[in-house]
Amino acid sequence: MDMTRSAILRVAEVLGPVTSLGPGRRLGVWVQGCPLACAGCMSRHTWDPRGGRDVLVERLGELWGRALGDGYEGLTVSGGEPLEQPGAVGELLKTADRIRRAAGRADADLLVYTGREETEIADSAEARAALGHADAVVTGRYRAGEPTRLVWRGSANQRLIPRTPLGHRRYGPHLRRLVDRPELQVRVTDGAVHIIGVPRPGELAALERDLVARGVTFEGNTWRP
Ligand code: SF4
Repeated sequence: MDMTRSAILRVAEVLGPVTSLGPGRRLGVWVQGCPLACAGCMSRHTWDPRGGRDVLVERLGELWGRALGDGYEGLTVSGGEPLEQPGAVGELLKTADRIRRAAGRADADLLVYTGREETEIADSAEARAALGHADAVVTGRYRAGEPTRLVWRGSANQRLIPRTPLGHRRYGPHLRRLVDRPELQVRVTDGAVHIIGVPRPGELAALERDLVARGVTFEGNTWRP
């Protein structure tokens, strides 16, 4: 059986270009479903594994190929918890790797955000296999009480770990890089406002107050219970 064609990933969102979760312009895939329930999570809408929608990995590969054609520099898989769907995420990364090589874009990197800790990944053959083609991973639960200025990380405990030579080249210079303010992107699609990036504690509430002051009405948000 051709696993690449048959694999289905439950996704919350696919957006691009994303410029706040890894270097350069990127395709972002947010998977649906997370049981980790970190206090202060900004993506509560991705927790329910029955939410979101099913997307063929083959279709995501097409979007990735088109993104590479548009000059995108990487793919970021976030969530939700990618390692709750290790088979499909592994197939997505394998497909993305094949497509970037076929397109002559082996320089475009594959980054995965997971709430799993390094030890949890090391203890799981499924998780290790899923990340087989990832150039870098950001690991660890989000801990709202441990803010950080480290680029692309939400809390000080989270680790950015290069896994391949490309990952070391692209992420090595950023492992200890600090930013005064993390970049946040605001995208509006289908009547929803998407805040993309890794905000500091309190920043989402401040942004909401700012938008309300400008006349934006919120029917609900994903960062408050
Ligand atoms: S921060 Fe990430 S790992 Fe934690 S609950 Fe939210 S989606 Fe899950």
